[in-house]
Amino acid sequence: MDRIYIKRLEFFAKHGVFPEENVLGQKFIISAVLHTDIRKAGKTDDLTESIHYGEVSHMMKTYLEEHTFALLERAVETLAEKMLLEIPGLEKVELELEKPWAPIGLSLETVSVAIERSWHRVYIALGSNMGERESYLQMAVDKIRQKEGCQVERVSSFIRTAPYGGVEQDDFLNGCMQIRTLSTPRELLEILQGIEREAGRERKVHWGPRTLDLDIIFYDQEVVDEEDLQIPHIEMQKRDFVLLPLREIAPYLRHPVTGKTVGEMAEELTQHYVM
Ligand code: AMP
Repeated sequence: MDRIYIKRLEFFAKHGVFPEENVLGQKFIISAVLHTDIRKAGKTDDLTESIHYGEVSHMMKTYLEEHTFALLERAVETLAEKMLLEIPGLEKVELELEKPWAPIGLSLETVSVAIERSWHRVYIALGSNMGERESYLQMAVDKIRQKEGCQVERVSSFIRTAPYGGVEQDDFLNGCMQIRTLSTPRELLEILQGIEREAGRERKVHWGPRTLDLDIIFYDQEVVDEEDLQIPHIEMQKRDFVLLPLREIAPYLRHPVTGKTVGEMAEELTQHYVM
């Protein structure tokens, strides 16, 4: 992706863990790399097709002067989030915040904290087989839409499917959604589990009836293999109730490990049934 650089913008602010720092203030320096597509601006010479680095510089300086944080980590984390939420077309931002006069009783050139934050594209599977199934799925979509740092981009239709795993129970209603998020995989898992709890889900029987089940299917092209979190979802290629709604919204999306598209996985699964 194209980049716009803002290098070593100086300002005076009051961040620090010592109370004197929050009163007296000191010099800070911020640098930013803005990742955005500037092809159109390059072709048209139109500033509205790009990001105005002057406005961004003022925004960063004003924000860091008007707020006081103990940690540089907190200062850049909150600034990166504000920039990704407020600057149209900004896909990723790198920030480095320097504190050259850090009061540590030693002479050094500078200390700094650097981070890289971006939007992530995620696919989530939704399922319900208790009570008002459609309203539980709709509630999940609405709750995610209302979260700051989550944008719902596409929602599949909801399909009826037979239950999975051999437990006697009602049919499921299933769907998939595509979102953009600033959350990490684990933060997103916690958000989804919070929504499941709000829907009154109790974990009684494995594969048993549930008001709402939300699973992370894909998170960019990342692979996560932890005890309680596997991405891509470990069972996805075996589940028609995931693949069929997902194919509706992302047929050409590829599994990062097998390289197969959602369409190919769905096709393989359906052929398997016929045999
Ligand atoms: P389930 O009863 O099918 O909803 O399984 C829930 C458990 O699966 C949770 O405790 C999660 O920690 C775990 N899990 C592992 N990978 C994922 C994933 N990709 N999305 C959601 N839950 C996951």
